[in-house]
Amino acid sequence: MSEDILMVGAGLSGAVAGRVLAEAGHRVTVADSRQHVAGNCHTQRCTETGVLVHVYGPHIFHTDDAEVWDYVNRFEPFIPYRHQVRATVDGRVYAMPINLLTINQFFGRAMRPDEARAFVAAQAETGIEPPRNFEEQALRMMGPALYEAFFASYTAKQWGCAPAELPAAILKRLPMRFSYDDNYFFHRFQGMPRDGYTAMVARILDHPGITLELGRTVTPDQARAHDHVFWSGPLDAWFGHDRGWLGYRTLDFERFTAQGDWQGCAVMNWPDADVPFTRITEHKHFAPWEEHEKSVLYRETARACGPDDIPYYPIRLAQEKALLADYVARAQGQDGVTFLGRLGTYRYLDMDVTIREALDAARAFLAARSAGQPMPAFVVSPL
Ligand code: UDP
Repeated sequence: MSEDILMVGAGLSGAVAGRVLAEAGHRVTVADSRQHVAGNCHTQRCTETGVLVHVYGPHIFHTDDAEVWDYVNRFEPFIPYRHQVRATVDGRVYAMPINLLTINQFFGRAMRPDEARAFVAAQAETGIEPPRNFEEQALRMMGPALYEAFFASYTAKQWGCAPAELPAAILKRLPMRFSYDDNYFFHRFQGMPRDGYTAMVARILDHPGITLELGRTVTPDQARAHDHVFWSGPLDAWFGHDRGWLGYRTLDFERFTAQGDWQGCAVMNWPDADVPFTRITEHKHFAPWEEHEKSVLYRETARACGPDDIPYYPIRLAQEKALLADYVARAQGQDGVTFLGRLGTYRYLDMDVTIREALDAARAFLAARSAGQPMPAFVVSPL
């Protein structure tokens, strides 16, 4: 039986889950309070320079999930892209994430891989077992010198708290390599959508069973009028933040333009404590197959997210986890709503994981309906 389903949010979660359900014959409304689709991976071509700009900061697609890779390529050709990042520390430029070149340059040495491994192991605080937070994880992995130079201040600026208060999982996002491989990611598939993420998401949403409503803010009460709701807005917003706000970091971008190639790479990190921003992104380098005389750059600064700011990174400190557990328990008691995505599940998700979970959620919905079972509030627990 065809049902009336509402997707709140036209980002990756709402678009992908909506498409699966529309293809299965349901009537899907996708509503977003913004005037564009694609959420925070929205891309827009700058009319002055021609550069495709990652409006809400850099998004690089990388995955080991072959089905997700095939899925995105079905809607938009992905051009091979290799993400490389540099970091300027105390007036010198290094490769990020830390690799053999970083280690040799930083310590003024010329070590081979095994020598560097032994050298770093001698500095690492291996007694920390298991590492309980970001700082302990870093000290155990690389020792204090590399940690202080590349991570301690960057992380404090990015997250607005001491690294010892943050989960170790944040650091696990970055590999440390004892080779000269300077690829930022270590996934099998990596690329950029040729015409940007917004073009890709628009094509995912382009289905006769999908009605797109941009510029529409949906309240939970309006949402409940539908047979089922997939909510990819903030989890606490569903409850009107009645027990408090889950903490996020937001980003400020100071945009500037330049001639030619301003910094020579897509992302330059600035870990030093006395530099107020965290990184500078040069957007033309996200599409190296294009040529532009001018350049668009963002100087990126993180700060606490207020009620009117755009939430980017869920912080998940200890006190947030208690609040989160409370919201999760209440969400699980609700009928007819499923929470999806970075905001809906309050998790630091990469795009490929977001898509995987949206596919799984939509399929779980179809399976639940055909088995006459209730659809759960979460397909992956936020806790
Ligand atoms: N990080 C750091 N120094 C760097 C790059 C990253 O301290 O030069 C830390 C920081 O805490 C950051 C985390 O590693 O939040 C994960 O980095 P990633 O590049 O994955 O962050 P994203 O691009 O998602 O902001």
